[in-house]
Amino acid sequence: MARRTKIIATIGPASDDETTLRDLIRAGMDVARLGLAHNTIDEAVERMSRIRRIAATEGRYVGILVDLPGPKVRAASFGETAVDIVEDSRVNLRVGGRASTASDIEIDYAGLLTDVEAGDRLSMGDGRVVLEVLEMGGDRVSTRVAHGGVLTGSPGLHIPSDRLSMRAPTDEDLVAVERFVELGADMLAISFVRSAEDLARVPVDPHPVGPIVVAKIETRAAIEDLPAIIEASGAVMVARGDLGSECSIEELPILQKEIIRQCIALGRPAITATQMLETMVANPEPTRAEVSDVANAVWDGSSAVMLSGETAIGVDPVNVVATMSRIAERADDAFDHRGWMAELSDLRMTDTDDPDTSITDAMTQATARAVAELGIGTILCISGSGFTVRSMARFRPAARIVGLSSNERTVGQLTLSWGTEPIHLPEEGDLDDRVNAALKVACKRGAVTPGELVGVLAGTDVRSRSTNALRIERVPEA
Ligand code: PGA
Ligand code: MN
Repeated sequence: MARRTKIIATIGPASDDETTLRDLIRAGMDVARLGLAHNTIDEAVERMSRIRRIAATEGRYVGILVDLPGPKVRAASFGETAVDIVEDSRVNLRVGGRASTASDIEIDYAGLLTDVEAGDRLSMGDGRVVLEVLEMGGDRVSTRVAHGGVLTGSPGLHIPSDRLSMRAPTDEDLVAVERFVELGADMLAISFVRSAEDLARVPVDPHPVGPIVVAKIETRAAIEDLPAIIEASGAVMVARGDLGSECSIEELPILQKEIIRQCIALGRPAITATQMLETMVANPEPTRAEVSDVANAVWDGSSAVMLSGETAIGVDPVNVVATMSRIAERADDAFDHRGWMAELSDLRMTDTDDPDTSITDAMTQATARAVAELGIGTILCISGSGFTVRSMARFRPAARIVGLSSNERTVGQLTLSWGTEPIHLPEEGDLDDRVNAALKVACKRGAVTPGELVGVLAGTDVRSRSTNALRIERVPEA
């Protein structure tokens, strides 16, 4: 079987050259994540056009996910070599951006001195080091190292989000939004979202005209407002790095399952992120625990699994993507499609006030049942906004899902959709025209073979969002 769970790889200095990008695409990168925490907008724009160009020569759709840093607080660089922060030693934090050492760390956030209080625990580098605030003095925060560890580069400093006066999206985020919307980025991730109102302040048209807005769940406030945030988003990221600093670490697996469950109920793709194959930053093989983590994220219902430092700064990004692809494919293979479908019937929440939504929902469920019954291997979903395809994917059918749209923006956004092979379908015509064109293009792309029985889902009215037709067709001989 082919892999169904999508792979997002973060592009960084270890992976932004032509050869590595091409090999990452060949190894299975479905979506490239461009962070703005360590780069200027211009650098990210340059990377974006390079990826698009290479993907086009590879004949592949690779989604572009631009990740806006939000109120992320960072330390000035520790330099090229790793620095050991010794347990129980004293460390001063100051506002600045030049350089950091084991005893004096400069922080790029002016609000540091007013937001933080004695007794706060501040974690650095996704929990590798924990500092306990002793006292506030003039221009510095003095801390004791509660947990020592090794830091490299410019690690993040986690200030508890309910202390932070800075809100998402920040002014810098909004500058980047304008630029990347203009360039047609497929997805935009918003960091440190605390409420649905934060998402409402992102000035974008609803997708597919605008990008899919990905809400990163990494604050305690977001957990409290979860249903409203998911409803207001196009997709969701379980951002375990910062979320693990915000809540007790033992809550993390439970939160992961709960967030994904609610995403499934509301039909939003969920991305599981951070430290999935962390040790592969330096090693050729993952730990056994990491392999299990990736597989379990698949079985929880993640649409995509994400790589961060592993591909951005690791020793062998291509090996990491290839490894993740193998793990995900094997987990997909063992996926309990039947059990999932039965459970989803109870779990899913459908907006019954909106006929488009409820018709599509019922039609995709009927399709999932029909193809399982008939042993059909492929479903062709002809979709305008991608809504039908995501709705179909939610049922996790064992059959392949080919997502076809005449809207190229939709095609780019379907790179995130579970189990979906995105294909551009230029034809718009009536139902017969579109179904015939879909069969032809899927056949040409090798997604279906002549004589094979397939399910085709479409709307009788090309302008309407609702999918109201399921046809069981035999792929014509070429
Ligand atoms: P980040 O987000 O890598 O931008 O911090 C992901 C996370 O916090 O897990
Ligand atoms: Mn984060």
